[in-house]
Amino acid sequence: MGYMHKVFLAGDGIYGCLHCGTHFVRKDRIESKQYNGQYGRAFLFDQIVNVRAGEEEKRAMTTGVHIVQDIVCMECSAYVGWTYIKAFEPSQKFKEGKFILEKELITDITRDWDY
Ligand SMILES: [Zn+2]
Repeated sequence: MGYMHKVFLAGDGIYGCLHCGTHFVRKDRIESKQYNGQYGRAFLFDQIVNVRAGEEEKRAMTTGVHIVQDIVCMECSAYVGWTYIKAFEPSQKFKEGKFILEKELITDITRDWDY
């Protein structure tokens, strides 16, 4: 525990928390838009910042069983997606260590944070 430094991403085209605007990832880091979350369309990223992960749990998804952790915004604790810890199907192994953000729960931040 303790204070965690929030990371500010520079430049245009950043996805952030819908509720508080905390930066999560640059839009050009998106790997796929072909995912479905609890709230509709979801995006896959190789790395994101400013989130906290919850408990590991085994979840049956359309692409097979995975060990995942839900992720929440570090600032306001809003649920925003999940991260893949382990995939059991060989064809899904590429997702391990990657992150899903739900489109309905993030916002496109176009403001430039350079200062
Ligand atoms: Zn937030």
